[in-house]
Amino acid sequence: MTVNFTMSDEQKKLQHEVRAFAENVLKPVVADADAEPDPLKGFQMTKPAYVEAYKAGIAMCMLPAAYGGGGVSCVDLVIAAEEICVVDPGFACTVLCNGLGLMPIAWYGSDEQKERFLRAATSDPAGEYLGGWTASEPPGNPSGTANFDIPLPRPAGVRLTAVRDGDEFVVNGRKYWPSSAGWDEQGVNAGTLIVRTDSEKGGTEGLSALVLERGTPGVTYKHLDKVGHRLASNAEIVFEDARIPAANLLPGAEGNGDLVINRNFAWSGPVAAIAAVGMARAAYEMALEFAKGNTAGALRPIIGFQNVGYVLGDVAAKIEMGRYFSWRAADYLDKHDQHAELVGAMNKIQVTELMFDCVYKCLQIVGVNSLETKNGFGKILREAAVLPIYDGGNMGMQRRRVHGVLADPMFNPRAIMEDDYVKFEKHHEGIDTVVG
Ligand SMILES: Cc1cc2nc3c(=O)[nH]c(=O)nc-3n(C[C@H](O)[C@H](O)[C@H](O)COP(=O)(O)OP(=O)(O)OC[C@H]3O[C@@H](n4cnc5c(N)ncnc54)[C@H](O)[C@@H]3O)c2cc1C
Repeated sequence: MTVNFTMSDEQKKLQHEVRAFAENVLKPVVADADAEPDPLKGFQMTKPAYVEAYKAGIAMCMLPAAYGGGGVSCVDLVIAAEEICVVDPGFACTVLCNGLGLMPIAWYGSDEQKERFLRAATSDPAGEYLGGWTASEPPGNPSGTANFDIPLPRPAGVRLTAVRDGDEFVVNGRKYWPSSAGWDEQGVNAGTLIVRTDSEKGGTEGLSALVLERGTPGVTYKHLDKVGHRLASNAEIVFEDARIPAANLLPGAEGNGDLVINRNFAWSGPVAAIAAVGMARAAYEMALEFAKGNTAGALRPIIGFQNVGYVLGDVAAKIEMGRYFSWRAADYLDKHDQHAELVGAMNKIQVTELMFDCVYKCLQIVGVNSLETKNGFGKILREAAVLPIYDGGNMGMQRRRVHGVLADPMFNPRAIMEDDYVKFEKHHEGIDTVVG
């Protein structure tokens, strides 16, 4: 029978190598970087660990081997990602954004663009190369990100405009949240930028993707301060008559920026889900250890109390559920040309929300001592709170994608269990975007 949940020897070796990196190289810098009040400084404190990750082949492991990447499968990526996320999902987010920023070039770019950008990403002697995914926009009225596919002209939907002027696009507007500022707020090396190339058309026709390069004139970056993922970089980005070569337009994404967004956030869905598994695993292992070492005034450790045993047992089981659903969703990506717009969303939604609940249950089991900062549960709770909201929020983006597919009269409700390819198309988009 093909279905087999046992890791191969190669996968076990990968898991152990990445675990060693996370424990020995990453862990020592996490607490100080997380506590650093200046978000740029906090991010910069992760650079030595990032360079180690780059040299170990972790940072660009998802990129195609043909261009010097690790060429790892999505299943292997998820197995490796769990080991980094259990230590710090913010650092893992920096690696994830290499994929979010550069995989669209692999999927929609010309051979010349792949050679130019992917090869550079995998052959940086300094090991500092960063990719960036620049889609999200600032809050406002009208503004925001979730309804990027709304079937209405601007000002609805994506507001960053790119107007063709000869061999260049002139780009104006703002982005908010992307991990694209780089080590020095001069921008990451290169990445995918979602722009409005036709303001008269709705989000399913008027969006495209350009490659934004470091040092592009007219682009300024400012780091954001945030509750969790403080080892990751997030910024406000202002474009003032920024000029991007027309040669940086991804040909497969012209008028299809909407499909790039949906495919990208589906590709990263299992990674976001396994990040949540990592956080719940960290909380569970700490809570179990506490329950076996503390009596709460009784004569025997609290693990002997029924409620403690039942709750931690439930948490342990839910972590297994979350892990294997994430492996399954990653396996679906591997089997369907890295398309999983439906199951990728389902996986991200259900696992990130279930794991947040698991983390909080662990705090309840440990009790008041979970609230002392030095015990680490507070950081885990902050990190777990990010995961249902980032990477394409569950409420405004991921659930809409699922709704759009399920509402299709042709949808086969057994498609995933039968491993059928559920082709995501433009008629699945735009649902639930027009209030009332
Ligand atoms: C650590 C971190 C890293 C990130 N990295 C990146 C990155 O590299 N690149 C990038 O582009 N972005 C990045 N983001 C942003 C992230 O991808 C967000 O998920 C994205 O901006 C969408 O946020 P949102 O879903 O809250 O949408 P918003 O547009 O901010 O919507 C706000 C809320 O309104 C509600 N809502 C809106 N529309 C609807 C609707 N139609 N139906 C129901 N409810 C609705 C939902 O509750 C939604 O949460 C990052 C964020 C974080 C925290």
